[in-house]
Amino acid sequence: MTPRPHTLLVVDADAANRDWMTRLLSGEGFHVSAVENGKSALQWIKDNPADLILLEIDAPGDNGLKALRDLRKKYDPVQLPIIALTAETGNGHAVDALNCGASDTIARPVDSAIVLARIRTQLALKRAEEALRESEERYALAAVGSNDGLWDWHFRTSRVYFSPRWKSMLGYDADEIGEKPEEWFRRIHPDDVNRVHADITAHLGQLTPHYEGEYRIQHKDGNYLWMLGRGIAVRNSRGRAYRMAGSQTDITRGKVVDVLTGLPNRVLFMDRLGRSFALAKRSHFKSFALIFLDLDSFKLINDSLGHLIGDQMLVTIAGRLEATVRSCDSISRLGRNHTVARLGGDEFTILLDDISSTQDAIRIAERISAELSKPFKINSQDLFPTASIGIAVYNPAYTTPEEILRDADTAMYSAKALGKGRYEIFDSDMRANAVARLQLENELRRGMEKQEFEIYYQPVVALRTRKITGFEALIRWNHCARGVIPPGEFIPVAEETGLIVALGQWVFETACQQARIWQTRFGATQLSININISARHFLQSNLVEYCRNVLHETQLSESSLVLEVTESAMMPDPDTAIEVMRRLKSFGIKLAMDDFGTGYSSLSYLHRFPLDCLKIDKSFISRMMEDDEIVRTIITLGRNLGLQVIAEGVETESQIERLMQLGCSYAQGYIFSIPVHASEATDLLMAEQFHPPTLADAAFGEYSLMTE
Ligand code: C2E
Ligand code: CA
Ligand code: CA
Repeated sequence: MTPRPHTLLVVDADAANRDWMTRLLSGEGFHVSAVENGKSALQWIKDNPADLILLEIDAPGDNGLKALRDLRKKYDPVQLPIIALTAETGNGHAVDALNCGASDTIARPVDSAIVLARIRTQLALKRAEEALRESEERYALAAVGSNDGLWDWHFRTSRVYFSPRWKSMLGYDADEIGEKPEEWFRRIHPDDVNRVHADITAHLGQLTPHYEGEYRIQHKDGNYLWMLGRGIAVRNSRGRAYRMAGSQTDITRGKVVDVLTGLPNRVLFMDRLGRSFALAKRSHFKSFALIFLDLDSFKLINDSLGHLIGDQMLVTIAGRLEATVRSCDSISRLGRNHTVARLGGDEFTILLDDISSTQDAIRIAERISAELSKPFKINSQDLFPTASIGIAVYNPAYTTPEEILRDADTAMYSAKALGKGRYEIFDSDMRANAVARLQLENELRRGMEKQEFEIYYQPVVALRTRKITGFEALIRWNHCARGVIPPGEFIPVAEETGLIVALGQWVFETACQQARIWQTRFGATQLSININISARHFLQSNLVEYCRNVLHETQLSESSLVLEVTESAMMPDPDTAIEVMRRLKSFGIKLAMDDFGTGYSSLSYLHRFPLDCLKIDKSFISRMMEDDEIVRTIITLGRNLGLQVIAEGVETESQIERLMQLGCSYAQGYIFSIPVHASEATDLLMAEQFHPPTLADAAFGEYSLMTE
């Protein structure tokens, strides 16, 4: 940026002098104006900012010194340096000028080199002093509270200095926020921004002695914080603000209202809980219950549909909770001080005052469940959120209010573990389970560090030829102390904690590598590898890119890869799931619906998912000899949709026979092989001297062969 040229004002009674000086200074790149006497100078400077004045003080009538004094009354030497020009020798007049406030004097007739040098010196001094003054002001502001963020706004350049602390309060590094005022205003909550503007404008217009106001501002993580903003304008002698500086103080903690939903926040809730607790401790007749509610799969919604939709959903849920609890109040005529609060994230709590029986609490929990499960229309799509609810009822054994909250939380976890979308009442066994779960989580992290995981492979077999067409990769945990832990025990914890992504990637990469080894060794290019993908992993935004990279690195062909997904992973957001599936498919990767038939919406969505394969859940296979209705239906459905059907958990010859009769082509199960080590799987391939199935076998054509 080139610096702005300085503006100089020449004051001289002599027109020829004015002219000469104007030409000299303009030639040096200054903006120059010239007037003939002190009075005009005062007038001129009122309307035009000048950086320096050259003032001739020899004019008759002492006019020059008077003008100098008048100017100094209004402008200090830092703001406006004045160089006095005087022809008098003996310094008498020059000394007067200095006493009247001149910054420097120059003898006349003027030497052009001297005048330029003096002007530059004065301007440099002015700059240095201004910078010093600025940093002093900043320093003074900083001293007000080191925990506050500071800002310093220069109206002339329209730039704002934001202190590093100002930025870090909002979660940003120093270089992530620029110098524009919008950096501030665009982050302010839409409901507050006009007020902040109005408050600042009022102060600039001198309607208020300083600016002060509260507003919400968005942190980098998407959450809003409450801030107290304060500031004061720096004005020139005419009262015009040319700069404003101030601070921003985080007052979120002191606020008792949740910024997003307007519900009481944790601080207020704990306060109310504390009061109810104290009351119950004092009076045998007072009791209360606490409901702890956590939305199921809210993370999925947030990750797949974005924070905005997630926020919208939380606001709607907050409204529903309040309405439900209010209606319960009027029906039960119990205490009317129920408090619905948002603790944070997707966690809500409800304090049911004056409730002593577990039954009353259950009734309310049931109403809440029913209310929440009504669909949400968001962006013209229906979401069906459910919540896991924990209930704890006060009893005199409690010694602190936090214990009740902890127990309601534990009961909520137990509701989640038992299948979500339900409520549980706290009992002491749950405590033990919660502790065990926490232990498992820590163990899981440790196990991942120590590489205690291993992949087992279970063959997928073509029923007609009994030949292996591929393998499903199944993870095992060789726990150092507890021995082999089956995935059913640790996958849910891994999903909840997000560890599943790293774990899933490891499975993915290892299994692809292994499949490629088998293909090369046995010349079996048709051999496929089935990999289970968790919902979390599936909704990672870079999944397609990721698969592409792994396939490229392992040199496995896309068509050898089958990703197994479950309906429950697809359902929170079917549209996004379909989009991801399409992208995977267009890349050549195959998709299987795992555990088909156990989900809640099997048929309605099936035709919309771009699948290649259905896997019949083993629970249906194990019952099929008594009742094969479901298996028959699934096979027919698969055939109508042109899908390959794999039966899981096949354990007997009679099941094989029946499956073939029904037109099922592929199966997995203990009768063929349990899941085994890679080396044993290699032995299986060797033993059957694996020949790649013919194209017709491998494609979905097999049952069409049989139906011909
Ligand atoms: P799944 O995908 O439905 O896997 C099939 C399960 O059935 C496996 O249990 C397998 O050992 C078992 N199985 C196979 N044949 C028979 C049989 O004839 N009879 C009986 N009773 N069971 C049979 P496993 O290995 O314990 O895996 C359980 C679940 O854990 C899997 O169900 C899958 O949902 C999950 N899982 C396993 N590995 C992974 C993985 O790498 N990633 C993810 N996300 N999930 C995995
Ligand atoms: Ca599977
Ligand atoms: Ca399955």
